[in-house]
Amino acid sequence: MKFTRFTYGSSIHLGVITDDSIKEIKGDIFGEWQYTDDTFSAADVTLLAPLKPNQIIGIGANYVSKIEDRPSELPEIPVFFFKPTSSVIGPEEEIIIPEEIEQVKFESELAIIIGKEAKNVSESEVLDYVFGYTIGNDVTAPQFFHQDGHWTIGKSFDTFTPLGPVIETELDPFSVNVEAKLNEVEKQNSSTDLMIIQIPRMIAYLTNVMTLMPGDVILTGSPVGAEFVGTGDVIECKIKEIGTLRNTFVSVKEHAKPY
Ligand code: MG
Repeated sequence: MKFTRFTYGSSIHLGVITDDSIKEIKGDIFGEWQYTDDTFSAADVTLLAPLKPNQIIGIGANYVSKIEDRPSELPEIPVFFFKPTSSVIGPEEEIIIPEEIEQVKFESELAIIIGKEAKNVSESEVLDYVFGYTIGNDVTAPQFFHQDGHWTIGKSFDTFTPLGPVIETELDPFSVNVEAKLNEVEKQNSSTDLMIIQIPRMIAYLTNVMTLMPGDVILTGSPVGAEFVGTGDVIECKIKEIGTLRNTFVSVKEHAKPY
């Protein structure tokens, strides 16, 4: 099932995507919801980020380029970081490059959406707590990293976390390809089995530290191939089974709206 959030005119709606339309729903996608009598044509709506995350957690440097390169020993403490929910934008929105710099990096990622409160969950049970999956672009300005590895500022600018286009609830996360095309040229294309910290360990580890809640988003790391981009560049992050998340980079000066 593919869940979406969208605007029609000036109002925000929730929906489920069917073959030829969007059926509106009302309620809480993590709890009780039901269909309304309304149906929308995809051509008449603007897709938003498919949820307003409760919180966003990322993992750093989590892919190798080939299976043989996966380390035999995993890092004892994985490198996790938070991104602010205020950095979220939806499909087709502009990613704004901060004033002080000319370029930022794109990072196409599989994003996990937690559906149930999760504490001290074992690796074998983590998928019971997953609601679904979307695509995240973990936009990054490493120029703002501290040399000691403190990443928060470089990950946190407004517009730095495009999410979408939908939440897919029926996905096998262990066998999908995470792709990115920059100006229609392929830059990233890796199977999720190239992750160093695999999804079960990632979620189990986190739930042994913090209680995960419905609406928490975990960005699972980006394949090899992310690179710097500048104003005018178009990035398409893709997972075939979910869709394509397309955004354009603009400098603050060229951004159409006051910001
Ligand atoms: Mg990342």
